[in-house]
Amino acid sequence: MVRILLRFSEKIVEQPITSQIILELKVPINIITASINSKGGEILAEIPDAALEKTVKAFRRKGVTVSLPKLIEVDTEKCFSCGACVALCPVEAITLAEDFSIVFNKEKCVGSTCSACVDACPARAIKSVKQSNSELTSNLH
Ligand code: SF4
Ligand code: SF4
Repeated sequence: MVRILLRFSEKIVEQPITSQIILELKVPINIITASINSKGGEILAEIPDAALEKTVKAFRRKGVTVSLPKLIEVDTEKCFSCGACVALCPVEAITLAEDFSIVFNKEKCVGSTCSACVDACPARAIKSVKQSNSELTSNLH
């Protein structure tokens, strides 16, 4: 699966673009987060690798700005369990286990659209990285 970030301007935000594309391309689009109001909107979504190119093109044809957000990686070797990232994470993607080791749930994490933990970590144990299928995504940046 690949994560894509969709940005809708005020001009197009009221159009049912995402549902049109799901129906037209028959692509399962898994919406992870959405923030939409009358001035515009942003959707973080996940789509199958094989559908990436045609889906991105379809959104861009309809005037949507598409980018490929980075993902978060946690180096547990560097972590000293200060808890700063745990307190900041808005979706509980980082938690501390009973033994105070850090547990990272990458499915819950919203990636570089948040990055709160990256800046907060005093040990530089957390970083943003390009999505691993970068070959697939390189010509879509
Ligand atoms: S980037 Fe945001 S959502 Fe992801 S683990 Fe860090 S604080 Fe949580
Ligand atoms: S902020 Fe860094 S050092 Fe502190 S618990 Fe999180 S990963 Fe570990």
